[in-house]
Amino acid sequence: MVHWSPFVVSFKKRYPWVQLAGHANFQAGEYGRLLKRYCESEQHCLEKLMKDTLRPYVPGYHGVVQKEEQDYNLMDDLLAEFDSPSIMDCKMGSTYLEEELTKARERPRLRKDMYEKMVAVDPGAPTEEERAQQGILKPRYMQWRETLSSTATLGFRIEGIKKADGTCNTNFKKTKHREQVMQALEDFVDGNTQILRLEELRSVLEQSQFFRTHEVVGSSLLFVHDASGKAKVWMIDFGKTVPLPSPQTLDHRTPWMEGNREDGYLWGLDNLIDIFSSML
Ligand code: ATP
Ligand code: MG
Ligand code: MG
Repeated sequence: MVHWSPFVVSFKKRYPWVQLAGHANFQAGEYGRLLKRYCESEQHCLEKLMKDTLRPYVPGYHGVVQKEEQDYNLMDDLLAEFDSPSIMDCKMGSTYLEEELTKARERPRLRKDMYEKMVAVDPGAPTEEERAQQGILKPRYMQWRETLSSTATLGFRIEGIKKADGTCNTNFKKTKHREQVMQALEDFVDGNTQILRLEELRSVLEQSQFFRTHEVVGSSLLFVHDASGKAKVWMIDFGKTVPLPSPQTLDHRTPWMEGNREDGYLWGLDNLIDIFSSML
C-alpha cells in the first residue's frame, strides 16, 4: 500500500532578472538574491547601511560569498516581489569622486583616448589647444562628460528604463533638458503616481547618519513598479561611496567646489521631486 503524504512545494516564480546599467558584474543567486562582483567600499557601505535609518531603502545585504574563486557581495534582488516590473535607474549627483579629480591633476597626462571619445560625441567640444595636442586632460574630460546629460544641470541622469512590455532604453546619455527628462519619466511612470512620492526618502536621507558622513558618487535610485500598482524606490550601487574623515559632514546640496567633496545628491533629488510634482 502506498501512503501519499501531503507535501508543500513553494513555486518561486521565475522571471528574467534584468540589469539596466553597469558592467557584467552580476549573477543570479538563490532565494531572490543577487551576487554582485565584490567591491570593498560597497561591502563597507552595505554593512553600515544595514544599521542605518536608510535600511528600508537599500537592498538587504547578506555578506560576502565565493563562487568559482570570485568574491561577491550577496544582496536581495529588488525585482523579486514584482510581476513583469517596469524599472528605471537614475544616477544621482556627481559621477566622479573628488579623489579621482585630485589624482588626475597630480599626474597630468594628455589622453588621446579621451580626446577621441570627446570628438566622436561632439566634434566641436575640444578647444583649439586640445585640438592641436590631439589630447585632453582627464579632469577636463570628466567634467565635460557631465555636461552632456542632465547631470550638470539637474544633478541626476537617467541611466536606463525597461518597461513592462519589454521595451528597453539605455540611450539617455544626451538626455539633458528638463523637458526631455520629464518626457522619459512620464513614459516610465505610465500613470502609476505611487512611484512619484519621493519626499519620504528625502526626509530619511536628511536624517541619516550614514548619508551625512559619506561622499555618495555614482549611486543610483532604482525605481520599480508593476501593473498591480505596487511601486517602490531603492538606493543601489555603492562602489564609489566613501566615508569622510571625521568630523567632516556633507549636506549634499551645497554646490561643489574643489576640496569640499559635495556630491550634489540632494540637489539632484530636489530637482527630481520638483519634476515629479509638476507631473502629478
Ligand atoms: P555602474 O557602476 O556602471 O553604474 P555597476 O556594475 O556598479 O554599474 P549597479 O549599478 O549596482 O552595477 O547595477 C546595475 C544594474 O543592475 C542596475 O541598473 C539595476 O538594473 C540592476 N540591479 C543592481 N542591483 C540590483 C538589486 N539589488 N536588485 C535588482 N536589480 C539590481
Ligand atoms: Mg550603477
Ligand atoms: Mg557602480
